[in-house]
Amino acid sequence: MRQALFHGPGAVRLVEVPMPVPGPGEVLVKVEVALVCGTDAKTFRRGHPLLLEHAPAPFGHEYCGVVVEVGTEVTAFAAGDRVASANSAPCGRCFFCRRDQFSLCEHLQPLLNGAYADYLLVPAPIVAVNMFKVPKRMAPGRAAFLEPLACVLKGLEVGEIGPGTTVGVVGLGPIGLLMVYAASHRGARVIAVGRNDLKLETAGRLGAGALVDLREPGDALERILELTDEGRGVDVAIEAVGRPEVWDFAVSMVRRGGVVNFFGGCEEGSVACVDTYRLHYEELHLTAAFHHTPRHVRMAMDVLANRDFPDEALTTHRYTLEELVTPLRVMNKELAVEGFIKAAVTP
Ligand SMILES: [Zn+2]
Ligand SMILES: [Zn+2]
Repeated sequence: MRQALFHGPGAVRLVEVPMPVPGPGEVLVKVEVALVCGTDAKTFRRGHPLLLEHAPAPFGHEYCGVVVEVGTEVTAFAAGDRVASANSAPCGRCFFCRRDQFSLCEHLQPLLNGAYADYLLVPAPIVAVNMFKVPKRMAPGRAAFLEPLACVLKGLEVGEIGPGTTVGVVGLGPIGLLMVYAASHRGARVIAVGRNDLKLETAGRLGAGALVDLREPGDALERILELTDEGRGVDVAIEAVGRPEVWDFAVSMVRRGGVVNFFGGCEEGSVACVDTYRLHYEELHLTAAFHHTPRHVRMAMDVLANRDFPDEALTTHRYTLEELVTPLRVMNKELAVEGFIKAAVTP
């Protein structure tokens, strides 16, 4: 079978490797579709501490496929089932799992990697906790959104997002757009903030009540505040970019007593500064959400079944395995492709 291997920053090669044989609890899946994730693009650009350690390493983790073989002890799945899964599973026993903080589990390894291939071996802990059968009528390209959507649903639990709440989403990549969709679905009024025509327009179609284009002349922050009740700022600001300057911007758009969710992870060593006056006297709640938990993966499976789930609006481009480097470079802005939001790779 063919498998894309990550050798180091900028180096990905498609090679022939032997077909894996599922051990106890493992499942072998024939990949139908793998989605290109921002994390993969970041790995491609600057390396990844874990993957680099094991390089050359397989990568890719948002997928849907059909089970071809199951290991001993697997009873929930059988050959022929269409499945999708998250990319990790908590151990249930460590310090953090015992405190229900499953996204901080100290044993999230082995992470699932290797969806950019003809076949993918899913580790036993993931099969046991975070793998699902895909309903008959759901397209594989939609089911593959399971993992990013689970992260987004966990992110939406920061602050009370629902009817009567105004949520500002800064950054309209695939994750920001999923935030717009899911927050609107919960009845919140969403102000989408971005700098790309297609992404702003898509945010509008996914339910955003107001759009703010950062490229327009004048003070973008002022325009955002004008859109909020009494001009006080948003109730919840979600940062979906992962850059310290955007973290600052997210803080500036929230009202007194509001919540900021730093959802985008910044490069290691980044530092953000906070106005202590605002933090204390205005009771700002500054917090973050990382990864997902089994509960959110299960919730994501339900949300994927929504008639209006926007997989087709988000997956703007399709590539073969041989072409994998193209969408990675596009996401890293080394290559320009018209109208690109997210890409699907089909073996
Ligand atoms: Zn991902
Ligand atoms: Zn754990």
